[in-house]
Amino acid sequence: MVNTINNNNNMLKPNLSAPIIDAHAHCGIQDQFPSQSFENYYAHVAGTGIQKVVMFSPVMEIYDRYDPNFQDNTEWQLRRKNSNEYLLTVGNRQLTVIPYFFIWNDFAVEQMSSKHKGIKWHRHPGEPSYHYEDPRCQMAIDEIRQRNMPVVFEEEFDNTIRFIHEIAVGVNVIIPHLDLLNGGYDAIERNGIWGSPQVYTDTSLAPRHVVIDYINRYGSERILFGSDFPFGDPKSELSKLFSLRIPGDKKDMVLGQNLERLLAESHHQQ
Ligand SMILES: [Zn+2]
Repeated sequence: MVNTINNNNNMLKPNLSAPIIDAHAHCGIQDQFPSQSFENYYAHVAGTGIQKVVMFSPVMEIYDRYDPNFQDNTEWQLRRKNSNEYLLTVGNRQLTVIPYFFIWNDFAVEQMSSKHKGIKWHRHPGEPSYHYEDPRCQMAIDEIRQRNMPVVFEEEFDNTIRFIHEIAVGVNVIIPHLDLLNGGYDAIERNGIWGSPQVYTDTSLAPRHVVIDYINRYGSERILFGSDFPFGDPKSELSKLFSLRIPGDKKDMVLGQNLERLLAESHHQQ
């Protein structure tokens, strides 16, 4: 009803001067549980105003997350390569795809093209480990640092701290979901990590009050709107952002400006 909209609420509306970008969506056609092709995502965002989306592969196209003793092999290497390449082929006039390269233990950064704008690094407790001691790991990080690509980094708490403080110093790290899926929002806060200028986060699946708490403490420059499709619904994740009681210009930053700035800082080769 029109008469319920007061000036205060108008101030909270985003100006939407820049495109809305979903900074976190999974997309692939090899893992069908659940279906998460580009067409599936596109059907979910019709009419939302989302014009760009960061996409990375489903975990089950990269490694077998249900086998802690999983050993890499050529079959999985091919699956991974096809999966990363698929994301270079999708998108349409209404929706631009920003592909991130999902890296695993072969640290195959030579497969990255100039179209890959970021890195996805993912492991939950009990899943096969990244080989941080492998010299190829450090070589891959050197390449990522040189290209100034952001890394969406979701790992156990100790590895997260080590990655930021030791392994990937100077690399921009996006810790997704305000680290709620690894139970770490408060732990990350106690370690002072959220305040680091290299550390970003996204809002996917995070409750409103945590998003507000983060913005109150750390500002609105390093927090990105994300949906975590297909596990989160882009439409409802977006309406969560719209309903936050924060000024409209800050909302614009979260909805896309921050990510545009971050990606503009990276250097693309080839
Ligand atoms: Zn995710």
